[in-house]
Amino acid sequence: MSNIHTSNLHVEKAASSKLKDVNFENLAFGKTFTDHMFMCDFVDGEWQQPKIVPYGAMPMEPSARVFHYGQAVFEGMKAYKDEHGDVFLFRPEENFERINKSCARLAMPEFPREFFFEGLETLVNLDKDWIQSGVGNSLYVRPFAIAIEPVIAAAPSQSYRFMIICSPVSPYYKGKVRVLIAEHFSRSADGGVGYAKAAGNYAAQFYPTKLAQEKGYQQIIWTDSNTHTLLEEAGTMNVFFRINDTLITAPTSDRILDGVTRKSVIQLAQDNGIDVEVRPIKVHEIVEASENGTLKEIFGAGTAAVISEISAFEYRDKVHEIADLGQNGYAAQLKQKMLHIQHNLSEDKHNWRYPVK
Ligand SMILES: *Cc1c(COP(=O)(O)O)cnc(C)c1O
Repeated sequence: MSNIHTSNLHVEKAASSKLKDVNFENLAFGKTFTDHMFMCDFVDGEWQQPKIVPYGAMPMEPSARVFHYGQAVFEGMKAYKDEHGDVFLFRPEENFERINKSCARLAMPEFPREFFFEGLETLVNLDKDWIQSGVGNSLYVRPFAIAIEPVIAAAPSQSYRFMIICSPVSPYYKGKVRVLIAEHFSRSADGGVGYAKAAGNYAAQFYPTKLAQEKGYQQIIWTDSNTHTLLEEAGTMNVFFRINDTLITAPTSDRILDGVTRKSVIQLAQDNGIDVEVRPIKVHEIVEASENGTLKEIFGAGTAAVISEISAFEYRDKVHEIADLGQNGYAAQLKQKMLHIQHNLSEDKHNWRYPVK
């Protein structure tokens, strides 16, 4: 076991790698983890020495506040390897800024920039043999922070743990999804935590999503909590609608997460001469466009799937099917462009690739 010290970071290497036991042909998303993990505790008002240790279980007291009051936030990002073996992250600065926004909303301390980037790069570098080259392969990187103080009084924790774990992912096409437009349940509300990547947002989505799945829909398109007349997000992704040749997506707000993929899709669409409107979108507008044949595409945008095409939606017991445009659709074209930038196969004029050295 070799122990390396860098400026801040203490690295304890795993005695042996689990990599040889991994079947990359048959990877379920998020079930396999690399050899190492990053962790850093916040104690006595300060972030302590960050460290990388072998991935594994960690002891926690059952009274840790995260289990009772849900002070937990996370991020999702990916690392890619090109055919020369060089490794890149995609816009990690965005994820760093967003996790600190999420922390602030949950009364958790912000994580220092140097710790984040040194930990992230060292970890990804250490476990880079886990990244397969080839479009669609990547390493899913999951930073998160939790309240660990063993006190069950309902108040913000005095101690926290910031961690990063990594999971290899291979491309697998799940097919298009059918979605139900929410008329009763809400994902978020004005003044709430919808814009934060708070763990509890996901917990609150599981039940309505399960009901939708029982009706034959994989996901829900969330509408605004006040009127259920505005289309906001698709499952855990931002959502885009194409009417005629214009792409429309809702503006970010308290209720809508400011997705890195959403931002990148808007920019790429504009770079390619596609008109993009960022404005509130009414449910009835989409229903009408579906009925008069001008609704061409709906897709979700997020790190995990990049772009996920929607083939049908149900609203008020009526099912609207959307014709398949195949490789000619904006969804397929924009996804291809995103993947090519991520995998260092095309020009990166906005400097989105972040080389990991
Ligand atoms: C993470 C997330 C997204 C997508 O964000 P990306 O930065 O593109 O991965 C969209 N909506 C919600 C609710 C999310 O949690």
